[in-house]
Amino acid sequence: MKSGIYKPLFRMLSIKQRGTKLLVFIFHRIVARHDPLLPAEPDAAQFDWMVRFVSRNFNVLSFGRALALLQTNRLPAASACITFDDGYQDNFSVAAPILRRHGVVGTFFIATKFVGGGRMWNDDIIEAVRACPNGIVDWSEFGLGTHDLTALHGRLVAIGEVLDKLKYFPHRQRETIAREIARRAGLPDKSALMMNAAELKALRDAGMELGSHTHSHPILSKLSERDAEREVAQGKAELEAILGEPVTSFAYPNGNTQRDLGPRDAEIVKRLGFLGAATTDWGVASDRTDPFLIPRFTPWDRSPRRFAMRCAMLLAKG
Ligand SMILES: [Zn+2]
Repeated sequence: MKSGIYKPLFRMLSIKQRGTKLLVFIFHRIVARHDPLLPAEPDAAQFDWMVRFVSRNFNVLSFGRALALLQTNRLPAASACITFDDGYQDNFSVAAPILRRHGVVGTFFIATKFVGGGRMWNDDIIEAVRACPNGIVDWSEFGLGTHDLTALHGRLVAIGEVLDKLKYFPHRQRETIAREIARRAGLPDKSALMMNAAELKALRDAGMELGSHTHSHPILSKLSERDAEREVAQGKAELEAILGEPVTSFAYPNGNTQRDLGPRDAEIVKRLGFLGAATTDWGVASDRTDPFLIPRFTPWDRSPRRFAMRCAMLLAKG
């Protein structure tokens, strides 16, 4: 494979006195074509140049493999992982073919409740806003205000405000309200947004790593210890049943260590047999990083040069 011009820089910046640093990229959806209601999600063309760049300038490893090498001080310089949270169908239909074309592995963290026809609460809201006709929508009975959906800008503001408010509602209430809003917008409960079991197996058979992301994607720090443990255990057991093999990598839902998980939750993940876990805190990992608190970062850059500078800055700081 052709080597990228930034590789020597990334090699140099990633080498510490002892061991090396690891960059972990996090994605959610990769849309086939730009979606105006999901302006932050890369489309296929953008993801293609990102993966080309990463494949030429980094040693791309699965999350599980990278952690094993990191902990034994065998991680090659300029190593990176490409990870995806939640289990969107476009990970299979759009992202995986691009990864394969560039000869690199990805790690996909799956919330099992939504496999094969489910829809997450945030997508209930986004798809409801998409389906609503132009005009004012009144969700004040749910504590979510009224919103003007006559133009794209209003729809984007509505999505942002409602998601921000609903995110920290109690888990059950959040799901119930989001689903009711989706029903009123005329959406069926079944959806094709997430991968099904056959697609998960096909990803694994194509050499990708599948990791766990709980069962129903709750904010673990908001649950009792018993409920948090049940969520993590169920997500692991269901994914293992689909794949017929152990699942040893984990990503925390939402994943901010200040808000969404605590030491108790990292302990649960460790106790249930995972070998490492990813947060959504921004940063790079080193051999001194707790393997159950591996930071990641979202590449939102619109050009390879800016993307390169961001990687270099993170490596230099980390
Ligand atoms: Zn997630």
